[in-house]
Amino acid sequence: MFVDSHCHLDKIKEVQTNGVGPTLARAEQAGVEHVLCVAVTLDDYPVMRRAIGEQINVSFSCGLHPLYMKDQQLDVSKLTELVRDPQVVAVGETGLDYFYDKEFHAQQQSSFEQHIRVACEIEKPLIIHTRDAHADTIRMLREGSAEHCGGVLHCFTESLRMAEEAMEIGFYISISGIVTFANADELRETVKKIPLERLLIETDSPWLAPVPHRGKENEPAFVHEVARCVAALHGVSVEQVAEVTTNNFYTLFNSVKKII
Ligand SMILES: [Zn+2]
Ligand SMILES: [Zn+2]
Repeated sequence: MFVDSHCHLDKIKEVQTNGVGPTLARAEQAGVEHVLCVAVTLDDYPVMRRAIGEQINVSFSCGLHPLYMKDQQLDVSKLTELVRDPQVVAVGETGLDYFYDKEFHAQQQSSFEQHIRVACEIEKPLIIHTRDAHADTIRMLREGSAEHCGGVLHCFTESLRMAEEAMEIGFYISISGIVTFANADELRETVKKIPLERLLIETDSPWLAPVPHRGKENEPAFVHEVARCVAALHGVSVEQVAEVTTNNFYTLFNSVKKII
């Protein structure tokens, strides 16, 4: 059975119109046993929770995404309060995105630093979004002693060197549907060299639908396409990828088992 380690269920149009039931039913049919649903702002978090309701196979994360902070400051005490909820199994997504954002690097860094501090304080892992910010991301994780809380670099598209540096401090690397894209040869070479024991798989739905669903809205059921691609790259069966990445997920997000 698979786990979709990162998605935004509440942003899926079908969920917005028909509720989460049909989407989760298809995921279950596709062998997805658990889904981690990630909030992108603190105000979004209660809205997301209301949209999803109580689901036995969905857990939550809460943070302020680096690309959603142009018009807001991180309220650290509110973040701390929200992530203390037992249903919240991780802090984020947070991180640094210098690819899309050329102006707000200082704000992103200050927010990222606070997320690392909160994650270490409450002992929950970090979900990190990082793009074109290799040196600063790794430096801030080291300076914040993030090895104490652990975490994952989600939707990873960066270099093997960066993956190695993250793994040195105990972090996992999560692979999205981008790995199936025609132009992703470099990422596929990188994924081949990351041990299965450090990998997670995700959809990041509703975005980034994998081949052969390009152009469609992405959903957790499609995580098996990511698993299939990772299996081919590692020369192992899809079942083995499912087993190892699912174990990795429960090892990292170790409070999930307590709530299901
Ligand atoms: Zn992200
Ligand atoms: Zn995301």
